[in-house]
Amino acid sequence: MKKQALICGAGIAGCCAAIALARAGWAVTVVEKQAAWRFQSSGIFVYSNGLAHFHALDVMEAMVAAGFPISDGRNLYLEADGTPLFETVYPGRFAGLDVVPILGIRRTEMHRVLSARMSQLGVTLTLGCTVQALEPRQDGVRAALSDGREVDADLLLGADGIRSRVRQLLWPEVQPRYSGFGVWRSVHRRPPALRDKIMMMAPGLRLGIMPISAEQLYLFGTVVEPADAWYPREDWASLMASRFAVFRGPAAPFLDELGPQSELLYTAVEEILMPAPWHRGRVLLIGDAAHASTPFMGQGGAMAVEDAVVLGRLLERSADIDRTLERFSARRPPACRFVQDVSRQVGVSGARSDPREHADILQAMKPTAQARVDEFYARLEHLSRDDTTKETT
Ligand SMILES: Cc1cc2nc3c(=O)[nH]c(=O)nc-3n(C[C@H](O)[C@H](O)[C@H](O)COP(=O)(O)OP(=O)(O)OC[C@H]3O[C@@H](n4cnc5c(N)ncnc54)[C@H](O)[C@@H]3O)c2cc1C
Repeated sequence: MKKQALICGAGIAGCCAAIALARAGWAVTVVEKQAAWRFQSSGIFVYSNGLAHFHALDVMEAMVAAGFPISDGRNLYLEADGTPLFETVYPGRFAGLDVVPILGIRRTEMHRVLSARMSQLGVTLTLGCTVQALEPRQDGVRAALSDGREVDADLLLGADGIRSRVRQLLWPEVQPRYSGFGVWRSVHRRPPALRDKIMMMAPGLRLGIMPISAEQLYLFGTVVEPADAWYPREDWASLMASRFAVFRGPAAPFLDELGPQSELLYTAVEEILMPAPWHRGRVLLIGDAAHASTPFMGQGGAMAVEDAVVLGRLLERSADIDRTLERFSARRPPACRFVQDVSRQVGVSGARSDPREHADILQAMKPTAQARVDEFYARLEHLSRDDTTKETT
């Protein structure tokens, strides 16, 4: 009989884990709290490592076709007025695989690709449903669902994001930590000539421009915001325009057109710093539920995909689920913690609002930026190396 997995949450982590486990021969059920798909963001970047992990789930080509690839991997850095500062090139190879270095993609499109793959593999998905209670069982777990069902599973994955219900049930002491940053995002029509990923820098502010489809691009601006900041939705357009008004050059037309009709999102950024192990009995947390990061490296989604790929591979190789969970919990936290730490440092350095300090940071970045990108991806590759093939079960 097939082993049974119950996955709580159908975001990137939940969908990818469903695909990975179904490929490994498991019967997979996913429950998702939302009754209809809604996404917390318009677009997302996926870099080489994320695409290589999508490749392992057989969805990379469909993702690339659905998004906007930056095939030369160039990331342009500009001053606030649009004056070029320097550029970096992101790697187009990860773990021996040639991939697109940077992909911008709409969240709805990413989800469409993942949903199609789940259906192909026979994953059962129930929308408008959540896990209400958990009970450890001999060799498994029993979950009480909000639709009245009781489900026995060999493994339950909490893939239910930063405010994870599963985490709350088993690790109530782990709470999201406010990072100090707010992120403002908006979607715009893409002028055909704008094909680069652009990062603009001003004291205490960063503003990115990224194509996400043939028709659209998105703007994302980061700024220090008070911990309890809450802004009414009707004020978002004017607040974003005023926060980032110093940015001109290629950003000017997009900031100037912000208004009530704009597709906008404000997010107060939080992190989850969860000590290992990320499992208790047969319940494992993956994705943001276990390791939500600040977004400065654009890696949270890729880490969620990698969780799924690693778990799928480990389960394929071993029938011993408990041992597999231990291996997972030994392998994934170092990579996720590395991403969290680097991302936090990048955020802190971008938050320096003193013009002199800002100028010093840019001066220091120029000669070292490319080496930092290369070192970051080399380290990620090292941390995602698969040594488990040598282990016996
Ligand atoms: C401003 C910002 C920008 C970012 N940009 C990038 C980027 O460019 N690239 C990148 O790789 N990452 C980026 N990230 C990070 C990325 O969005 C997350 O790491 C990723 O979405 C995590 O996926 P997840 O599936 O773990 O969680 P989520 O995407 O949060 O999905 C969780 C799912 O679980 C569901 N759910 C929640 N509670 C329950 C419940 N009780 N029962 C059932 N279902 C439930 C939710 O509805 C949702 O569908 C960014 C993050 C932020 C904040």
